Amino acid sequence: MSVKTLPPLRVLFITAEADPYVKIGGLGDYGGSLPKAISELGTNGERDVDIRVALPFHAGIESAAPPLTKTSEIKVKTKKGFAKGKVFQFTSQGIVYYLIKRSGNPSGYKNAYNFSQIEDSRKYIFFSMACLELIKTIDWKPDLIHANDWHTAISAYELFIKRKNDAFYESIKSLLTVHNLPFLGEGSQPVLREFQLDPLKSELMPSWARFLPFPMGLEKADEIVAVSPSYSEELKQTEFADGLAGFFIDNTQKTTGILNGIDTDAWDPSTDKFIPKKFSLDQVENRIFNKKAILDEFGLEKNANYPLLILISRLSNQKGIDLIIQGLPKLFDKEWCAIFLGSGQQELEVGLKNLEAQLPDRIRIVLEYNNSLAHRLYSGGDIILMPSLYEPCGLSQMIAMRYGCVPVAREVGGLKDSIVSNPAESKTGYLFSQPDGHSFANCLKSAITDFKNIDKWKSVQERAMSIDFSWKKSAKQYLDLYCSMLINDKEI
Ligand code: ADP
Repeated sequence: MSVKTLPPLRVLFITAEADPYVKIGGLGDYGGSLPKAISELGTNGERDVDIRVALPFHAGIESAAPPLTKTSEIKVKTKKGFAKGKVFQFTSQGIVYYLIKRSGNPSGYKNAYNFSQIEDSRKYIFFSMACLELIKTIDWKPDLIHANDWHTAISAYELFIKRKNDAFYESIKSLLTVHNLPFLGEGSQPVLREFQLDPLKSELMPSWARFLPFPMGLEKADEIVAVSPSYSEELKQTEFADGLAGFFIDNTQKTTGILNGIDTDAWDPSTDKFIPKKFSLDQVENRIFNKKAILDEFGLEKNANYPLLILISRLSNQKGIDLIIQGLPKLFDKEWCAIFLGSGQQELEVGLKNLEAQLPDRIRIVLEYNNSLAHRLYSGGDIILMPSLYEPCGLSQMIAMRYGCVPVAREVGGLKDSIVSNPAESKTGYLFSQPDGHSFANCLKSAITDFKNIDKWKSVQERAMSIDFSWKKSAKQYLDLYCSMLINDKEI
């Protein structure tokens, strides 16, 4: 056993979601897996990492978590005086979790995200500021704060301000991960004023962005991580950067791209308790049991010889659902069947339901969030559709590949970084570049054609299943980045 000479590296990981306590999408997977993966690396490496997770105390967390203990009471300065809050904590798998809730009877905690932006802004801006107060009330000071997306970006901004005025914060560094740039926290301005936060003064951000949580955090964070290398490049392009391309071009030095991993324990076809027949790389043929079971369940059993197309997604414009709605009718004369799972924008739900109405023998649309069904679809589906307009990382394609379900996806962001479409002998999926229904349909057509060639298809599946999508590699990149941020500081 190695003797560790350095004290543990302390990181406060601040997030809106962390599976299994709160998960709406990929941020939940990330918040649930990355801290554990980094902590394990520390335990097995040269220096322990004491990484703790802070979450808003959303309703429902208590029932999923071990018993809570009260940690402290905190006060965040506001225009009218102070906003008070309570902090609770629990420990799971060696990780300490802090849950923070504003006192009184605050609205917005019932759901992770609400229709009212003001409710969300109040919850998340209070939370971001409260995290910085929390570390003063406990006997534990982090070396680094790792924030995520607009919800917690203000912690990086506020840390920058506090570093100038309060010696306690001087040595603490900040890292802000970009999971989904277009959500800048638009509409938060009245709440920023409530918390006496001032707009950015420098010219680094365009003037329209200087009083929005995400840009404020991005400008003041010491490091920025985009959730895939391609997305970090795309952030410098007008098409993907929501008006902030200039900022990212000017800040190339502090911006890195690290591809997310997946929780390979939670997503393991050889142990998955949700699926009828477990399987692994050397029993790909077992998938047919799962396919038949899911086709039976949805009354599609006549289609067992056709490729089963699946979709497991939020139904939002980002996900290119329109391309499916426009493209799939071009392939109505081909042999396939489909089960699509998702919920979200009403017009997209209606568009998908229309497809089902046109081809009732072959299409099923399930408009809900259903984790168990998602597992069963990954385990029995043949092709997963991900025609995203932009995809910072995307986890569904990695989960699908681990389950031998081959992606047909747009060549953007993390999809481009995790799927190989060329050369043929390395193929793990199918990529297309133009964001239109025609290009999507053509790409899907070639996958449907290849599906008929049993050996060829099996090779694609096996290659996809062999890829190591665990967090190990990415967690190491994060840990190296944490360490370099702290070392650089000492050298200055
Ligand atoms: P995003 O975070 O943009 O929503 P990702 O591909 O990164 O997309 O992550 C999506 C995650 O949410 C995956 O774990 C996927 O299985 C899950 N998911 C998405 N929609 C549903 C749904 N309707 N039911 C169950 N799980 C879903």
